[in-house]
Amino acid sequence: MRTHIDRTDEAIRLEEEKGAHNYHPLPVVLSRAEGVHMWDPEGRRYYDFLSAYSAVNQGHGHPRLVHALQEQASRLSLTSRAFHNDVFGAYAEYVTDYFGFDKVLPMNSGAEAVETAIKICRRWAYDVKGIAKDAAKIIVCTDNFHGRTTTIVSFSTDPDSYQGFGPYPSGFVQIPYNDLDALAQALEDPDVAGFLVEPIQGEAGVVTPDEDFISRAAELCKAKDVLLIADEIQTGIGRTGSLLAVCGSCSCEGHCERQLSYTKPDLLILGKALSGGMYPVSAVLADDAVMKVIKPGQHGSTFGGNPLASRVAIEALEVIREEKLTQNARELGKRFRQGIEKLMRETDLIRSVRGKGLLNAVLINDSAESSTAWDICMALKENGLLAKPTHGNIIRFAPPLVLTAAQMDECLDIIRTTFLNFRKS
Ligand SMILES: *Cc1c(COP(=O)(O)O)cnc(C)c1O
Repeated sequence: MRTHIDRTDEAIRLEEEKGAHNYHPLPVVLSRAEGVHMWDPEGRRYYDFLSAYSAVNQGHGHPRLVHALQEQASRLSLTSRAFHNDVFGAYAEYVTDYFGFDKVLPMNSGAEAVETAIKICRRWAYDVKGIAKDAAKIIVCTDNFHGRTTTIVSFSTDPDSYQGFGPYPSGFVQIPYNDLDALAQALEDPDVAGFLVEPIQGEAGVVTPDEDFISRAAELCKAKDVLLIADEIQTGIGRTGSLLAVCGSCSCEGHCERQLSYTKPDLLILGKALSGGMYPVSAVLADDAVMKVIKPGQHGSTFGGNPLASRVAIEALEVIREEKLTQNARELGKRFRQGIEKLMRETDLIRSVRGKGLLNAVLINDSAESSTAWDICMALKENGLLAKPTHGNIIRFAPPLVLTAAQMDECLDIIRTTFLNFRKS
């Protein structure tokens, strides 16, 4: 029996032969990682500019997370919630205090947490708002990404995501992203119970809405007694230069937890960096008035709230705070976008750069159907930096938040050299 493959070509061959083809990865195999670096089996070193879709904000193999995981794994890993365990309570106290909510409902994957939020919202619609049985609607946005379950893909607008997976559940209304008029109109329907939204659309290509979109959406929702459901699975936990993207811009430079322009959602969905990539941990946070609608037996998960997950999540959040990673993301994000703007004067391959904190995207000056963005990512890989195109001609750049300014400058050099030497095939 072998447990590791020590050659790139063999690992890729085996994965293609024996693994389902539900992804189209860049042809690189990773066997080790530390901080902002990853290594392939042949020992080539790369800068990680994806961070596992922003799960590894704390950097790979963070010693505190490794220690927490190992220590807890040897003590107690899983009890199920048929019994209490001695960690979940501590985590529940910690995470609710950290984000300023009364209660947390723990799950594992991001999609599960989105499903959880949908269920809580629907239950609230019937038990509190008084919407007629099975009539509740939730507003979603075009180009959303909330995960891969059948219910969630049913309201995706990306045919790859939803086509061929019907029949689809009803009760979802699509409006264009960043369109307050469309939101106001959709909210006129008294059966609407929630508005599910990403404060920045990561998978859609780091689509950043108007500065006041979320805060004004929150006001519109409040006026109609509709729950604002923020999916911060990718944008949350320091990534965008504030603790949450719903914090928006404010003058505290990421130093406080509840920032000046903070818009508090009714339901906050977290995942990914909640464990720093050590373990699948997701959560829905809400205040009592909303969370109380869920009673014993109505929702759950065997692994949700397990001691290992709870212990790692406390440590992962503590690392964000103690290492001031939110502030670092804010500062290095500016440095990155300035570097790309400078590069744009030297090449016409780049149409624009956008993003917040260390969640950024470079739009390649070619059609979405062209292979240019993919080919540039291949060239970046050859030069020691890993990034991945989203939606054709957009490349997302999202390194772990533990990157230093000197490393950012080195990475900007790699990006510059790659773009200036790049020839379209
Ligand atoms: C990744 C992601 C999800 C889904 O999380 P999984 O852990 O892959 O199920 C949902 N919403 C957003 C915004 C995401 O980025």
